[in-house]
Amino acid sequence: MRDAVQPRMQQGSPPTAGGASAASAPTALGDAAALAREAELHLDAARRLRDGLRSHTGPRSVSNTLAPYDEIAVHLDAVANRCGLLERVHPDPGVREVAERWTQEISQFATQLSLDRAVYDALSALDITGEDAATRHYVTRTLRDFRRAGVDRNPAIRARVQALNDELTLIGQEFARNIQSDRRTVSLQPSELEGLPADYIAAHPAGADGRVVLTTDYPDYVPFMSYAKSGAAREAMYRAFRARGVPANLGVLDRMLARRHELAALLGYRSWAHYITEDKMIATDTAATDFVQRVAGIAAARAQADYAMLLARKQEDEPGALEVFDWEKDYYDERVRAERFKVDSQAMRPYFPYERVKQGVLDITAKLFGVTYRRVHDAVVWSPEVESYDVLEEGVKLGRFHLDMHPRTDKYKHAAEFGIRNGVEGLQLPEAALVCNFPGGIAMDPGLMEHDDVNTFFHEFGHLLHALLAGRQRWMGVAGISTEWDFVEAPSQMLEEWAWDASVLRTFAHHHETGEPIPEELVRRARRARDFGKGIYVRQQMFYAMLSLRLHADDADGIDTTATVRALQNEYSTFRYVEDTFFQASFGHLDGYSAIYYTYMWSLVIAKDLFSRFRPENLLEPEVARLYRTHVLEAGGSAPAAELVQRFLGRPFSFTAYERWLNAG
Ligand SMILES: [Zn+2]
Repeated sequence: MRDAVQPRMQQGSPPTAGGASAASAPTALGDAAALAREAELHLDAARRLRDGLRSHTGPRSVSNTLAPYDEIAVHLDAVANRCGLLERVHPDPGVREVAERWTQEISQFATQLSLDRAVYDALSALDITGEDAATRHYVTRTLRDFRRAGVDRNPAIRARVQALNDELTLIGQEFARNIQSDRRTVSLQPSELEGLPADYIAAHPAGADGRVVLTTDYPDYVPFMSYAKSGAAREAMYRAFRARGVPANLGVLDRMLARRHELAALLGYRSWAHYITEDKMIATDTAATDFVQRVAGIAAARAQADYAMLLARKQEDEPGALEVFDWEKDYYDERVRAERFKVDSQAMRPYFPYERVKQGVLDITAKLFGVTYRRVHDAVVWSPEVESYDVLEEGVKLGRFHLDMHPRTDKYKHAAEFGIRNGVEGLQLPEAALVCNFPGGIAMDPGLMEHDDVNTFFHEFGHLLHALLAGRQRWMGVAGISTEWDFVEAPSQMLEEWAWDASVLRTFAHHHETGEPIPEELVRRARRARDFGKGIYVRQQMFYAMLSLRLHADDADGIDTTATVRALQNEYSTFRYVEDTFFQASFGHLDGYSAIYYTYMWSLVIAKDLFSRFRPENLLEPEVARLYRTHVLEAGGSAPAAELVQRFLGRPFSFTAYERWLNAG
């Protein structure tokens, strides 16, 4: 799945999807028994193929070795993708349970396969010199992944690798659990809620002791930090927020870092950061460190200018103030936006009724990428409100997608794209879904969206197009979004640009009562507000990125994590470290992302460069979009991402567009 909005989260390496011999059979999305039956058939088929691969004697060829290996991937991903979706969206708990169980089964089988020496030896014996580039890339990458898993080590090391991986899974779950379950509270005078919206105050009445108790959960915390006038109350909330997971996670984190370091060393790497960057576009930990320093440098002047505005605004409240503290930044950011940029997010909503936005996204992407969408009414889906569409090009079907766009009980709470199966030329068509929680879907309710939601819609559709248009590769292993992790968010972040263009918005964003297109001035103001604070934002992101790298660096064994946070916050963030706070204990990304938090910004640098080929005066011209489709989206994982980007740009990607974006506005 591909996640979208802040806080962004993402799963491990990009999954591939499948449906192999079940390609002609209907997809089981509806009932538990059928899902379990189908999953079992796929796993059995995968086992048989693996056994056949192992026992084959005689010369190895692409057809007798790579083809069955790829077919295993087709079977595994048929189950993994479908179950990954259904466990998060299916209304029937029985189906969710079956889906969870099969996700585990498949992941267990995949781990065994990654350490299967006989399969590795079979693939190693292939002579690929005469094969096409995608096949050579696939085999080279696959052998590297086997080695990265430790398959070529002696049995004792492999056993220790397996044990460390198992332990790290548990440590990661413990780390996440400690964050989720550690809900702190702060007790305040009712007067300390001054500045907050009336509905917030009404929802937080004083208790019998006359005090209001707030928690560190996001719905309490986030508005409070933006609106509460009392600096002392904000500081108390800030300190509580940065105490989450303390002390338990300080120890858990130490263990996590130590085990990762040991695992990396066992596999022959200097550090975990060295290991985890190897299969990314960035390729090395030193390149990642250079990248973070470079971006931080580019953003420095802008961050100082942003900061000066916050400080000036603070001085209106406190003449002579010399510094904006970390617990003040959201508050003064909000003040500057409201007073200086006159941002009014409510003013945009009437122009974004869900149905019109949906039609707009469909019409625009159809025009850009040369496809049409045809509503399908008899598709097998998991819930009746899901809408299905076929993607066609000149009457030929390219794939199918489903839109599950509104909240529902027991449904995934964020916005993400989920693969259902990847397409393989001559075998099966791709299928994917968007799962969101937008307004709408209720009779008589126009479903007015925030502009932020519209942005998310475009973002997720960028992932969807990537998954569907990369559906005609020869191999499952290079189909769909099977590209480097640090490239995955580039196509989605690039498509966001269309949500910020007045001419584009005016094609569909019409007032739900008057039909009037959205005024250009409203869009201009939204853009100006988006531009404010970019420098601070980027520096803060680079603080997180450097922290994630440093904690996993060569000399990080036994590192004092609090001292590291103090040093790096002071160096990279625009706001000084606050003593006795422990950001690292609730930095959830340290589990899923470990050393590679930089990936978000890396993808954004590339997204800005990709976008630079389009003509800003007319974002609806299809010519450039078609080239982008051919060179970047359709290629999927058939070549290194840098190569795909270069084919589209006609040169290697650069920082120029990103720098211009950062300093514009
Ligand atoms: Zn995304």
